[in-house]
Amino acid sequence: MAKKKQVEVDLNSDWGYSPAPESKGHIKIKPQYDQFIGGKFVKPSNGKYFDTINPANNEKLSSIALGSAKDVDKAVRAARKAYSEVWSKLSGKERGKYIFRIARLIQERAREFSVIESLDGGKTIRESRDVDVPLAANHFFYYAGWADKLEYAFPNKKPTSLGVAGQIIPWNFPLLMAAWKIAPALAAGNTVVLKPAETTSLTALKLAELIKDSGLPDGVVNIVTGFGDTGAAIVNHPDVNKVAFTGSTGVGKIIQRAIAGTNKKCTLELGGKAANIIFEDAPINQAVEGIVNGIYFNQGHVCCAGSRLFVQESVYEEVIRKLKHRMNTLIVGDPMDKNTDIGAINSKEQLDTINKYIKIGQQEGAEFYQPACKLPKKGNWCPPTLFTNVSQSSRITQEEIFGPVLAVQTFRTVDEVIAKANNTPYGLSAGIWTDKGSKIFNMTTKMRAGVVWANTYNKFDPTSPFGGYKESGFGREGGLQGLSAYLNLN
Ligand code: NAP
Ligand code: MG
Repeated sequence: MAKKKQVEVDLNSDWGYSPAPESKGHIKIKPQYDQFIGGKFVKPSNGKYFDTINPANNEKLSSIALGSAKDVDKAVRAARKAYSEVWSKLSGKERGKYIFRIARLIQERAREFSVIESLDGGKTIRESRDVDVPLAANHFFYYAGWADKLEYAFPNKKPTSLGVAGQIIPWNFPLLMAAWKIAPALAAGNTVVLKPAETTSLTALKLAELIKDSGLPDGVVNIVTGFGDTGAAIVNHPDVNKVAFTGSTGVGKIIQRAIAGTNKKCTLELGGKAANIIFEDAPINQAVEGIVNGIYFNQGHVCCAGSRLFVQESVYEEVIRKLKHRMNTLIVGDPMDKNTDIGAINSKEQLDTINKYIKIGQQEGAEFYQPACKLPKKGNWCPPTLFTNVSQSSRITQEEIFGPVLAVQTFRTVDEVIAKANNTPYGLSAGIWTDKGSKIFNMTTKMRAGVVWANTYNKFDPTSPFGGYKESGFGREGGLQGLSAYLNLN
């Protein structure tokens, strides 16, 4: 019988899907945003603002207040006042009601939040609508439930709040990271000063508007905006009791040095270089979809992105063939289009970093593959990228790229792949694809990774703790562990 010819579908061709853009008519972005301090929107003390842009066309969306150390001081004072006069005196039940109300308001305004998240950050509307915003609401719901049960959560302990929490977040999950930080802090009875990343401040400021609407007492949550030095001013403020940071390992190290010798509590959620491991007994089609989800969706802008792929030799050809086929069908482009798989790279700087690593990979002699796809003329874009024949010591397998770039290696035995997967300074997450439960349990005990997904990837839930080993940081967010990070447990 003649072999059936496989038909390649090029969804980036003129025969692809018709556009299905999410409407933007229902959202309001003001031309200028101030900082949220003491329950009011206040102008920056230096009078300066910076632009936030839409990375899908590099057009300006709004101006954001450039906070200085003076503004941070104002915010910490407001948070301290709210802590000592109001929040620490409220019962857990009352605190829970406010947190629950914030969760409900996020749900009510979910569409607005997801559209703004995609406009400001470049992530696909599918991701912000189906992942970021619902998960952010779920974190508030989950921790609202614990607020009046702290003694049950930690039996035989006397949990007490810490005071003022200084929180600094990155640009890849702006609203979700704010929720991960604010919800447990409030449930535990602390007040908050939070700084979003400079390229994605809008949803944090929208959250501030929502928090004001919720009637949360003034000063319990304060949002300051600005650059790295604004973040440093939070870290170095003497009246901050806890520093919670999510971002790069480089900045995490600076923070750790800055607070050494103080009695500030600290959690650091840093970079990653996750291994996705496919055994020969894995459901291959499902695994290929998992790889694509792990590294290409959300532009690889995920700390736990499955950026290293290990394939057992016997199925290598099949996996790479199927992966390339799937890569050819990925749609790169307008984040607001519901068909889009890979949106805009968050900033020109990040795109330059990714392109630098793509060049390094080629210079190091790895085999390079990118499907031919049409990229929009304006904006920051990177097609899904694959490197095969890479070595363990190669920079693209050792360093975090934070873009849609996958480096593939092969292995023969379980011990070999464990050694290879653990051979990185990071230890945030990993994925295992196999038919055998016993293999999964064996692997999970030996992988130095905070989260190990089995036969799935990038799944999150507020009840389950998340965090890293080694240079991926310490402390956990989510679950009871995430709550304990905001409590004294004596
Ligand atoms: P980043 O450059 O470290 O920035 C993170 C935040 O810190 C931003 O708000 C940044 O402000 C601020 N910042 C910069 N310098 C600072 C300083 N000296 N002191 C205090 N704050 C400072 O990281 P990013 O590029 O935004 O985010 C990407 C990184 O985050 C990746 O490495 C990724 O793996 C990691 N990440 C980890 C997790 C996790 O849970 N482990 C989750 C998400 C992301 P500016 O924006 O103004 O620079
Ligand atoms: Mg922006």
